Amino acid sequence: MSQVTTNLMLVKQRLELAAIAAKREPEDIQLLAVSKTFPSRAVEEAMHAGQTAFGENYVQEGVEKIQQLAKLRPWLEWHFIGPLQSNKTREVAEHFDWVHSIDRLKIAERLSSQRGEFPELAELQVCVQINVSEEESKSGISLEEVEVLCDAIAKLPNIALRGLMAIPAPSEDVRQQHQAFAAVRECFTGIKAKHANDVGYDFFDTLSMGMSDDMEAAIAEGSTMVRIGSAIFGKRDKIKA
Ligand SMILES: *Cc1c(COP(=O)(O)O)cnc(C)c1O
Repeated sequence: MSQVTTNLMLVKQRLELAAIAAKREPEDIQLLAVSKTFPSRAVEEAMHAGQTAFGENYVQEGVEKIQQLAKLRPWLEWHFIGPLQSNKTREVAEHFDWVHSIDRLKIAERLSSQRGEFPELAELQVCVQINVSEEESKSGISLEEVEVLCDAIAKLPNIALRGLMAIPAPSEDVRQQHQAFAAVRECFTGIKAKHANDVGYDFFDTLSMGMSDDMEAAIAEGSTMVRIGSAIFGKRDKIKA
């Protein structure tokens, strides 16, 4: 059995145990395999082990992999999870299924109109990224501003507002991990409840949070999609990661 296959099994086991501990159904938590910095061969390996959703951080690298694996495209789901500049939105709109990292209306508007140029493609599924730890350098919008941005995005054609994403500042303090994830979950459930009957919120069901080192805390706090890289594919080259 390949290392990726073994790792994938271990990660699924962690996911199940965390779900059970939180009295949740493991099926309600999707596993996104973050393949950034790893070659398309690694994606293929994971696919043969049953994994279908993959996350990429860098537009160029992601598009190259998607093209290399074009034959498998119908079985794969590609998520863009990295910082996105306006000059790169077209490639993302053309090649990806999901974008988790929207934190400005301008980026969402560009994705919306550019996705419209590919009528054969389904709506682009998007999450708004929250800067929950309020770090100066991190991307994401503040908890206070997120609802206004969601409202504007909900009205755009060709994209479907799916939920929120967050990358809290790494912390080994489990209590701190829980606090950050809980703040995002509260924001998510607040918006979901308030807009339950509003147009554009029909598919607002995704809480994208939790990585290799904090997935248990994220699942305990309601994550519906964990984004796992190193625990599946191994340690990344520090420079690129
Ligand atoms: C790299 C990355 C991940 C995966 O991180 P690991 O710690 O390797 O699991 C998840 N989300 C985002 C946005 C990332 O950039």
